[in-house]
Amino acid sequence: MPERAKSYKPKHTARTFTAKPERQQSHERGYDHRWRKARAAFLRSNPTCAYCAAMTPPRLTAATVVDHATPHKGDPEIFWDQSRWVSACRECHNRKTATHDGAFGREVKPHPAAGQHSDNG
Ligand SMILES: [Zn+2]
Repeated sequence: MPERAKSYKPKHTARTFTAKPERQQSHERGYDHRWRKARAAFLRSNPTCAYCAAMTPPRLTAATVVDHATPHKGDPEIFWDQSRWVSACRECHNRKTATHDGAFGREVKPHPAAGQHSDNG
């Protein structure tokens, strides 16, 4: 029978304790709430990753994040314009963020092998 490891502290749990919810500005809180709700609703309507679906052959992947096809750069008009929202899985979102944000500004067209060729500085 395994003993209880008393000294074991899960690091990721410990880390979440550090930030006490300090006085948050009410509009920020509302903004976050609104975004979460809007994002959840968007993902319900668009449950699959658009980038995966545009691949050849298309992949069917559950979307977990809402990506901004147009970099919003803090612009609330772009930020809240759902016609610029794209459902994405984490993998595609990370890949897009890792390359350069803005590459998808014109249309949703994923790079299947992003980072492999760099013939286009
Ligand atoms: Zn994807």
